[in-house]
Amino acid sequence: MRISTWNMKQAVAPKKPLGELWDWAENKIQPDVISLTEAKIPKNGLPPSWSALWDPTGIYPNKKNGNWGTILASRSPRLEPVSEITTKWRKKRLKIKWPATLQVADIYLENKHWGTIVGLYAANRSQNGTEFGNGGENLKLALEQLEPLFDSIHGNRVVLAGDFNCWPAWISNLIKDYKLVDLIEETASERQPLPRCANCADTEGISNNENFLSSTCGHLWTHKNGTSDNAKVQQIDFILSTQDLLNDLNRVYGGVRDFPDAWDVSDHSPVVAEFK
Ligand SMILES: [Zn+2]
Repeated sequence: MRISTWNMKQAVAPKKPLGELWDWAENKIQPDVISLTEAKIPKNGLPPSWSALWDPTGIYPNKKNGNWGTILASRSPRLEPVSEITTKWRKKRLKIKWPATLQVADIYLENKHWGTIVGLYAANRSQNGTEFGNGGENLKLALEQLEPLFDSIHGNRVVLAGDFNCWPAWISNLIKDYKLVDLIEETASERQPLPRCANCADTEGISNNENFLSSTCGHLWTHKNGTSDNAKVQQIDFILSTQDLLNDLNRVYGGVRDFPDAWDVSDHSPVVAEFK
């Protein structure tokens, strides 16, 4: 089961044609299931090899160009939207306040429940436009809304993937209460350190990071912040999972090192987690 997340860059110009972006996701990422953020369905409809779930009203329905959002898409497994969850003793509605940013689906392989995928775009601002500066507040709100899911009979096999507009060190505190594991952090020792990593420079208090190389870094460069050669080397895209799924985890990769032409199509590069 190859699960991925990728930001399609539909919020700001310049944008690549949607057909090209969906082709790139299919041919380069080759996911089974993907959480697409800042995403849109092509005008002519979903390409034939995909099925998908999304909220067509878009993230900011009253704003010009606000009709993008989070799309959960699959090339083969069946996705079932989750609107109600089952605990040991009863059923409960799963209330999602901002579905254009947060989509939840059960993944079925040949009618067998594999797990639940949550796609999240943690916006830098609230639903009514109040600026937060980063995605931390929306990540926190999303996790609170997902609490019934974590307590449900499917709560031990949940993957949360998306663009959180946060740095890894900031989210570690937020996610530990939910017993979620940051899969990039979990597999950090398998990767070479990222030169000029802004995440590690910040943690280590380094202000001039031109030749900086942290020996403990295992981050992925997933977001190119601007077009200059000095653009911040930063990771703001994540795949998290519940602890039980670590037993099935094969490998985690992504960033521009594993997708060298990612900056040709978006300002983000994908993250991929492969499970048994
Ligand atoms: Zn780092």
